[in-house]
Amino acid sequence: MQLSNIPIDYKPRTNLLSGKTILVTGAGDGIGRSAALNYAKYGASVLLLGRTGSKLEAVYDEIENAGGSKPGIIEMDLATAPEDMYTSVAASLGEEFSCLGGILHNAALLGDRRPIESAGYANWQDVMQVNVNAQFLLTQHFLPLLQQAPTASIIFTSSTVGRIGKAYWGAYAVSKFATEGFMQVLASELENTSNIRVNSLNPRATNTAMRRAAYPGENPTTNPAPQDIMPAYLFLMGDDSAGITGKAFDAR
Ligand code: NAP
Repeated sequence: MQLSNIPIDYKPRTNLLSGKTILVTGAGDGIGRSAALNYAKYGASVLLLGRTGSKLEAVYDEIENAGGSKPGIIEMDLATAPEDMYTSVAASLGEEFSCLGGILHNAALLGDRRPIESAGYANWQDVMQVNVNAQFLLTQHFLPLLQQAPTASIIFTSSTVGRIGKAYWGAYAVSKFATEGFMQVLASELENTSNIRVNSLNPRATNTAMRRAAYPGENPTTNPAPQDIMPAYLFLMGDDSAGITGKAFDAR
């Protein structure tokens, strides 16, 4: 896979995301939390989607205390939410907002890492539901709102194991390959028919709960903090990346 590069030393202007409403999934923790805080700092109204209300409320408070636009909270478990919940969330957002300027598909489950031979089907299905099927449902139901925006950006979160397969990474790796495929299909469909650009972003090793769970023997501080990789998340969400679509990026 050919990788594209974020401009070296990219520095977003302070009003990069002014006037945009941006949905971040998995906004309560880790990279999603940091992206939500940064999108708000650079002017966006942020919709915080996640499964743990208390975490979303803490991010809400941080944004408000920093003087950002009042965020929205969408408490939703992407492993179990039925399709009609996506329909009703999209309908109520459509009543409140005229358009959506972007989606960061960030929420994911790590799942069991074990040989395919002994992988449990229930765990496999959970990982696929959160990491792939929920992205499809959110994207499909929010496309009409994205199409109303002058420009919009969809970022799919990838992984190194979603670009080169690796033993024992099971459903997680397969789900990230699916994410790359979804990104390419959608980007190709929207390229000449809309102002929506669609790209994938691999954060690479980042000090979060997921990374610490995947590599318990590693010194977590050897990896960058989520805040350190935010230039890539801002570049792809803001209009400095206008015209770039169908590309796979690394955050650093
Ligand atoms: P994280 O700290 O575990 O955060 C994941 C977020 O997703 C959490 O907010 C979590 O909510 C949410 N989430 C999980 N299951 C959900 C569900 N069923 N419904 C709704 N939300 C759910 O992980 P992270 O490291 O920030 O990962 C963010 C993204 O980067 C993921 O797509 C991951 O695959 C990717 N990634 C990370 C690394 C890395 O080194 N960190 C490397 C490559 C790719 P709760 O907080 O409520 O559990």
